[in-house]
Amino acid sequence: MPRPILATVHTQAFRNNLERARRAAPDARVWAVVKANAYGHGIERAFEGLRGADGFALLDLNEAQRVRDLGWRGPILLLEGAFELRDLELCSRLDLWHTVHCDAQIDMLAAHKTNVPQRVFLKMNSGMNRLGFTPERYRSAWTRLNALPQVDEISLMTHFSDADGPTGVAAQMAHFAATTHDLPGERSLSNSAATLRHTVDPAQVAAHPERLVVSDWVRPGIALYGSAPDFPAHSAADWGLQASMTLTAKIIATQSLSAGASVGYGSSFVAENDMRIGVVACGYADGYPRLCPTGTPVLVDGVRTRTVGRVSMDMITVDLTPVPQAGSGSSVTLWGVAANGATQSIDEVAACAQTVGYELMCGLANRVPVEVSL
Ligand SMILES: *Cc1c(COP(=O)(O)O)cnc(C)c1O
Repeated sequence: MPRPILATVHTQAFRNNLERARRAAPDARVWAVVKANAYGHGIERAFEGLRGADGFALLDLNEAQRVRDLGWRGPILLLEGAFELRDLELCSRLDLWHTVHCDAQIDMLAAHKTNVPQRVFLKMNSGMNRLGFTPERYRSAWTRLNALPQVDEISLMTHFSDADGPTGVAAQMAHFAATTHDLPGERSLSNSAATLRHTVDPAQVAAHPERLVVSDWVRPGIALYGSAPDFPAHSAADWGLQASMTLTAKIIATQSLSAGASVGYGSSFVAENDMRIGVVACGYADGYPRLCPTGTPVLVDGVRTRTVGRVSMDMITVDLTPVPQAGSGSSVTLWGVAANGATQSIDEVAACAQTVGYELMCGLANRVPVEVSL
């Protein structure tokens, strides 16, 4: 028998979450961001639930190839653009749209031999200071691109650093708007946080034009996977998002501890009273964060309890006090949805490990078998 651990990818959750993103930005087209192998879910596994998107955005050319191999004929956007000249040949062959964020990429385009001009997204560094042309240099980059026969339509793009927090997007929006107001082309601005938090009622746009971040294309990633971009300010449930990944394992042993007995490496947890614990077939080598301390929430047979002691490579230990009937073979939900419908938020587990849901999804280990539920 295989080791009792399983991740499940929920097709229906993707459909719900995509619909949720569309409701937040009803006039925009939606890029489903599927970089990092669809945030750890597997592009092929996520595709069915996300094929209702208007396009797929990702970074790796081999992932773009995989999306084409699935039969997708619509738009695909390379979010970091070409890394070398050869990549532009693949862009031509696979009909990929690509980001242009630096002069070297414009040089590559100028050197690219093609009869079919390419659609590009010109990226502005409006304050994030990772990729893109600063507002001062943006227009000259646009002019240079616009003069190239290799370039078809130019779309305008930026990325927000603080859409999920109190700083918000107004300053970056102001830079973007001031620099691009008279440039033609479609706009793409918002990640999940901006799409959910910073879209306004059209009736209010006249009063707050700087808050209109919806534009032509939104770029939700994490929201499609059912994790809140701004946890703990909001939970996934607050936003109407459903978990696209469930990680379950089984209890493979139980122990009865006497008061004063300890559990696991470093004996970090000491029982105050007599108690039963379950040993679960999931550890950090499966992608469960080692940083999760005693008290991290977990569901046993759909009932909320907590981890006790240190996470080890292949096992964690959980308090069975709230689920006295549980024993070997009982089902444990590390994150996602249990058989009884109870949910364990991935964001809550991530917060216990001082990280975000993104990292847990992306970190699901290769050794964990994955199943797709329709
Ligand atoms: C990853 C990424 C996104 C999606 O971000 P989320 O926070 O997951 O919604 C959007 N745009 C760009 C440029 C990205 O790199």
